[in-house]
Amino acid sequence: MSHNHGSTGTTTGSSSGASTTVDLADKVAYGLLYASQHEKHIMYAWIIWVLIAFVLGAGFILRLTKAHRQIPLASVSRRLFLKQTFPCTNWRMSVARGHVFALFLYIAYNFVFTFADIPYGRKYRYPSKHNGMMQTATTMQFTANRTGFLAFSGVPLVFLLAARNNLVSWATGIPYNALNFLHRWVGRVVFILSWLHIILWSLELDINYFPKGKHSYYNTRWTMRYWLGGFAATVFLCFLCLHSLPFVRRWTGYEFFRSMHVFGSLLFLIGCWVHWPTAFQWIAAGIAILFADHMARTSRMLFIQLRGRGSAEAVVGIFSDEDEVDVMRITIKNCGIKSWRAGQHVFLCFPAHSRFQAHPFTVANSSNKTHNPDGDLVFVVRRKNGMTDRLCQLAAESKTLKVWVDGPYGVGALSPEISGRHIQLVAGGTGISFALSAVSELTGRDIPGTMQLDWYVRRRANTAWFGNDLAKLSHLFGSTLRISIHITRESPLTASSTEKDTSNSSLTAIEGVTYSYDKNSCAEVLRMYASTVDPRQGTSKIAVLACGPGSMGPNVRNAVAEMNGSVDVKCVMEDYV
Ligand SMILES: Cc1cc2nc3c(=O)[nH]c(=O)nc-3n(C[C@H](O)[C@H](O)[C@H](O)COP(=O)(O)OP(=O)(O)OC[C@H]3O[C@@H](n4cnc5c(N)ncnc54)[C@H](O)[C@@H]3O)c2cc1C
Repeated sequence: MSHNHGSTGTTTGSSSGASTTVDLADKVAYGLLYASQHEKHIMYAWIIWVLIAFVLGAGFILRLTKAHRQIPLASVSRRLFLKQTFPCTNWRMSVARGHVFALFLYIAYNFVFTFADIPYGRKYRYPSKHNGMMQTATTMQFTANRTGFLAFSGVPLVFLLAARNNLVSWATGIPYNALNFLHRWVGRVVFILSWLHIILWSLELDINYFPKGKHSYYNTRWTMRYWLGGFAATVFLCFLCLHSLPFVRRWTGYEFFRSMHVFGSLLFLIGCWVHWPTAFQWIAAGIAILFADHMARTSRMLFIQLRGRGSAEAVVGIFSDEDEVDVMRITIKNCGIKSWRAGQHVFLCFPAHSRFQAHPFTVANSSNKTHNPDGDLVFVVRRKNGMTDRLCQLAAESKTLKVWVDGPYGVGALSPEISGRHIQLVAGGTGISFALSAVSELTGRDIPGTMQLDWYVRRRANTAWFGNDLAKLSHLFGSTLRISIHITRESPLTASSTEKDTSNSSLTAIEGVTYSYDKNSCAEVLRMYASTVDPRQGTSKIAVLACGPGSMGPNVRNAVAEMNGSVDVKCVMEDYV
């Protein structure tokens, strides 16, 4: 990235002895400045990594020593940082202030050190080593090189934030999929820095370096290695940024996006390496993270298949409702995964559909032996247009399907800190998996508080996905667990007319479960639960575990942020995006 266009060489095009001395003095001054600036570029590219390592290290030590539980301002910081940045409930715009703050710090660092510590306004005139003609170098090229170095140093961060086996997640406890926002935006910062590098160098070559015409730098340089590498890297970087825009991703399909993203990233990295091998360490780090992540995924999947002797089978049941929405309940038997934590997800690959596609689904039960002696994994999966659609068709043809499983992934919903609080679970549609696995995992444990599960479904018939499980849990927990089902697309009248259809067992009321047809938003439900919590009963702290589609995520985060301060409320969310 850092170029030295004709900074050395002995040929001189000047005729007089005096001007030769001036040229040489300029050349020496330029060489010295170039060397000192080069050191600074390297220093600023590294400092950001020292800061990142410090933050990750501090996060890791806090988690290891459990000291974060004692931080007195935790509730206040949740009030500040959990709230959505934009006042809307559209999940596409849904991003917590904490993430935006982290991004702001990263952008601010890059902005400041793109321009800082560079001596502006100097010009050096000396003969080019290529054609002996006089050229003028200005300090614009130092800003250009600085952006190049900062862009290179951002590359490993982009890959680090995208990995499924994620070091940042491991150190901080933030789920790897929640880091996707930062992955995308750090990528965009690298994109902007790269374009600044290109534009500033183009201006330097075009305006300040002479001559023009057939001897111009563009004509003489474009076949050189650094130019070709830089050109290729820019093309692939533009491709990566453009094809990951939401509307392009929807248009090309998720699977095409994913494979092209990995392939395009690899070509981008190769282009960068060819462009500037001197700064290879950043690129090598990016390649290492990409390969390590894919190796870890593949070997884990192989290990699981070997442990399960390759005999994992999925039994799929299909539920359809009046809205023509199909949901599958998938039970996987003989799978090599022996234990998982509530709220974790796995990647399922059905070879009968494709050996090259694995999709994430949240496990709906727990590996708690009293609950699940056979170690089966249960999922509820909503039919969409790709693999899930094909799966529905395959399930209609065959009772069991061969499946490959990779996982579990995610940090889990129930840290000891969460299970030591009153727990409010909010689920929308298939998001019930997240809540059910948490409640199942808590069976047999001594929990200090109460639990309230609010499940939003469109129709009462949807409760059939988990009718028996809800009844069992309600029976096991007794008064400690209250379950409310909120039906959003039926009125009591329409529901009671369908309830007369006694052949449908899902419509008979589940014992211990209350049904409501209210339009209470989940924010109201959260506030109502908080007002009923009795601080004399074990603890006054509340944990909210939520998972659901669309606007549920932003609504819950905002509500929890607002409640914090007066009550200590911690939130664990799973988004299916
Ligand atoms: C952590 C996590 C847990 C999830 N748990 C569940 C669950 O328990 N039940 C459930 O019904 N759904 C769950 N989902 C969503 C589920 O993964 C997608 O609905 C499914 O992959 C869609 O497959 P498709 O080919 O039919 O989708 P398409 O109709 O092709 O695409 C629909 C949308 O699904 C998403 N998607 C598609 N493929 C993938 C993929 N490989 N990885 C991630 N997202 C993808 C994209 O946003 C896409 O726009 C979860 C998603 C995540 C990220």
